[in-house]
This record gives sequence, C-alpha cells and structure tokens, in this order.
Amino acid sequence: MIRRAIRRNPDAIIAVTGCYAQTSPAEVAAIPGVDIVVGTQDRDKLLPLIDQFRAERQPINAVRNIMKTREFEEMDVPEFSDRTRAFLKIQEGCNNFCTFCIIPWSRGLLRSRKPDSVLAQAKQLVDSGYQEIVLTGIHTGGYGEDLEGYSLARLLWDLDKVDGLKRIRISSIEASQITDEVLDVLQGSDKMCRHFHVPLQAGNDQVLKRMRRKYTTAEFGHKIERIHRIMPEAAITTDVIVGFPGETEEMFLSGYRFMEEMRFAEMHVFPYSKRTGTPAARMEDQVDEEVKNHRVHKLIKLSERMQLEYARPFVGKVLEVIPERAYKEAPDSGLYTGYTDNYLQVVFQGSEDMIGQLVKVKITEAGVNECKGHFVRVLTRDQQAVT
Ligand code: SF4
Repeated sequence: MIRRAIRRNPDAIIAVTGCYAQTSPAEVAAIPGVDIVVGTQDRDKLLPLIDQFRAERQPINAVRNIMKTREFEEMDVPEFSDRTRAFLKIQEGCNNFCTFCIIPWSRGLLRSRKPDSVLAQAKQLVDSGYQEIVLTGIHTGGYGEDLEGYSLARLLWDLDKVDGLKRIRISSIEASQITDEVLDVLQGSDKMCRHFHVPLQAGNDQVLKRMRRKYTTAEFGHKIERIHRIMPEAAITTDVIVGFPGETEEMFLSGYRFMEEMRFAEMHVFPYSKRTGTPAARMEDQVDEEVKNHRVHKLIKLSERMQLEYARPFVGKVLEVIPERAYKEAPDSGLYTGYTDNYLQVVFQGSEDMIGQLVKVKITEAGVNECKGHFVRVLTRDQQAVT
C-alpha cells in the first residue's frame, strides 16, 4: 500500500503512520519515497511535520518510544460518514501482554482519556444528532485503571446522564473487567445496549494459560451468566483464535463444547498467526495450517448455528431499530437496514427520512447475519424519552 501510494502520487509528500510504522520505523523509512514516519503517537503533529519537510526536504522519523507515553492523545472526531452511530475513543494501549498479541508494543501501555473530555465529546456528538455512542479503545474495558478514583462504571453512569443520548454500547470488554460495579450499571441504566463483546480467545484452560489470558473458562462462564441474569436477552459476541501453538484436537474439542454452552450470538473466528517478537511466535509446537483451517471452518459453522438460535426467539417481537442505510443488496427496493440494541441487523421496508431515528420494527424472520422485519412506527422525541 505504501509503495502503491508513492507510485500513484509521485509529487506527493508521503507520511506513514500507525502500528507498522510504530513497530518497524527503520524498515518503513527505508522504503524509497517515504518522507515522514509517525508512529501511534503524535499524529496531531502531522501538519507541522509536513511543513517542516517542505522547508527542509529531509526525511523525518518522528517515531518515539511508545512505552514511555503515559498521556492519552486527544483527537477530536466530531462527525462520522455514518450518521447513526458515533464512535468515541476512551482509552489507548494495553497492559496485558497476552502471548500472541503485538498491541502493547505498537500502542503502548494503557492510558485513559480524561472523564471531562469524554463527556464533552459525548455531548457534542449528541448535539450533532447521534442517538448511539459506541465506546471504543484498544482495551476499552480497562478504562479508568490508570485514573485515581474513577472507573469504567463511573463513566457509564456519567454518560447515562447525558440528555438526548439513547444508547451506550461498549465495543469490547474483557471478562475480568465485568465487575460488580459494571453489572450495577447494566441493571440500573436503560441506555446500556443489551450487547456485549467479550473476547474469549480459547475455550480450554490450558490454552488460555499459555495465551496468558486473565481468566479460566469457569470464570468467563460465571460472568456471562451474571449478565444473562440481569439482561436475559443480551447478545454476547466474542473473538476466538484457532490453532494457538500447542492446541491439540482434544483441547480444540473441549473449547468447542464450551463455546456451544455459552450460546454466543456470534463468534469472530481467526486462525492463529504469528506476530514477530511475541512469545507465542517463538513457541515450538505451532499448529499445521491445514489443521487450523479445518478448525476455523468448524467454528464458523457453530457460530452460524448459534446466530440463528439467538435470533429465532425474537420473531414476532417488536424491537427498536436505528436505520442506518438503504439495503446494499437492493438499494432501490425501499429496503433499509439497521441494528437493534441487541445487535440484530434487521432489513425492512422503510424510507430515507427514517435514517438515524429510533423506529419500531416487528421481526418476521430470523437469519444468520440479518433478520427480516416489518416497520411498525417511528418513535417521537417524547416517546423516545420514556422507552
Ligand atoms: S489481546 Fe487484548 S488484552 Fe491481550 S495484549 Fe492484546 S490488546 Fe491486550
């Protein structure tokens, strides 16, 4: 991509930024035509760096040691191309050092955005018309671990008080971060979406230990059970890595059974792939690619079955949907798609003016990646306030 950018834009100043630039700055700087290298910090300095390059015409390597960075880099993102859901980044980095993951090395250690700044950005997004805010980060559930007297749960309560905000979704949270305080918010706030993405990564305790994950399958299962007790219809989605070094067929099968028990609403399945510099990349008992592919397919099939099983009980029910766009498969058919708070994608006959509004839709058919529904009515502002 970098070489193509250089080839296609022979007169442009080429600046490379992001994780690859952070972990391999010399390699990136050595690509003929690269003028500026910035890592995962100091991205707000890109414009002054471009000015500097214009004046001096000398290559600039501005990558700093990310492990020394303790401040969250504020980057205001007031608008998104999609007008229905706004993504609000609340933290950066991770302290976990799972053995397969390069992220702490490319993104640095955990640092949280200041609560005032998160709340100000949330209010700004709501004022510009967004009804749903998705809290994002590298290790989103770790928000607040570096703050004195403040936590993810307190942030959620503060966001709950933001007038006009209808839905709060956490993009991802680790099982170990689902604390009693977070569970209290789920119980007490009606803005929290009934959808939690809780990365499992492996369904076998030996594999989890070698991955250096911070929970056992029993602890994971206990947290999920507690969510279901508070929100019986909550969708729990997850990530799974297949074919981690040392994963035997027996371990895989025990993991498969555990995932089945968890009744996930969807699983994102990835074959293990080495990340240079991580402990897992140096483990000797790497799993054969063919075995990995076979296991990936098995889990994708399981995910599709569970997706359908999760969606079926909603047939006949009326759910709230925020329509996002015309249906891609048939853009002129009058069909629109959007998500329910429990993350079912619903296709229904609607109209352009519904986009971004909260509407009621009756589910008529369950599907693997999308359900079908009938539009019932648009909720007025007053009705939205009491739902
Ligand atoms: S997998 Fe997640 S928790 Fe583990 S090191 Fe990477 S970012 Fe951190």
